[in-house]
Amino acid sequence: MPADSSPLAQSVAEYLSSRPWMARWLESLAGRRYRLAAFPDRVLPAVVVAHRRGDPARARQVVHAVEQNWIEAPTGARQAYEEILQHAPGLIVVQLRRTNLCGCLGHRHVLVKEAPFSEPHDAFGDATVGEMDIAFERVEKWLAQPLMDTALDTQFIAGSRLKEFHHQQLRFRLLSVLLHEIHHMVAPQVPEQVVREASLNFYRESLVNYVNIARASLSLTIDRSFSRLGKE
Ligand SMILES: [Zn+2]
Repeated sequence: MPADSSPLAQSVAEYLSSRPWMARWLESLAGRRYRLAAFPDRVLPAVVVAHRRGDPARARQVVHAVEQNWIEAPTGARQAYEEILQHAPGLIVVQLRRTNLCGCLGHRHVLVKEAPFSEPHDAFGDATVGEMDIAFERVEKWLAQPLMDTALDTQFIAGSRLKEFHHQQLRFRLLSVLLHEIHHMVAPQVPEQVVREASLNFYRESLVNYVNIARASLSLTIDRSFSRLGKE
């Protein structure tokens, strides 16, 4: 269920489930699914993840990235996108693909093609609609910051922590691709290099921040267990 912070996400969710059964039946036959996501600290934009029936876990990662990881990013990293998000289309449709033939991580689309969103609807209110695709498996394999990623990896030696770190890393990558494409939508004249630099900065700052917090909590646990041993 989309966060309460976004009336638009609620309204779009209601619109999707109240459409005529025929439309939903055909969609279901075609294996199309939708999930709504809302940023916890802002009303707009709302995000619709359009995905294939077999990909609910991948879609959940995108929702988790928007609804939880965004707020875990440092304030400065989020503020760098404040103006861009303010000017973004109110409703962002993300077509979640597994891969892209061209090898890109994602693209913004000039036209909205996802059927339920390609025509204006009352449920969208004043919000304009923008569309992009994200190639999940490309993002998974993407070495965003090769040196930094490997250096951070070595900080989580134990199994479960390393696994959690990799999940977190993937979601920050997904967020960074989402922000990158929104940036292109808002400012098509800005050169790729500038857009890329901004999204890589967001990724880098978010990940370093996550590692610092995780390390602090880890050493705290170790310290506690040491002091307990000392008393016995
Ligand atoms: Zn780009």
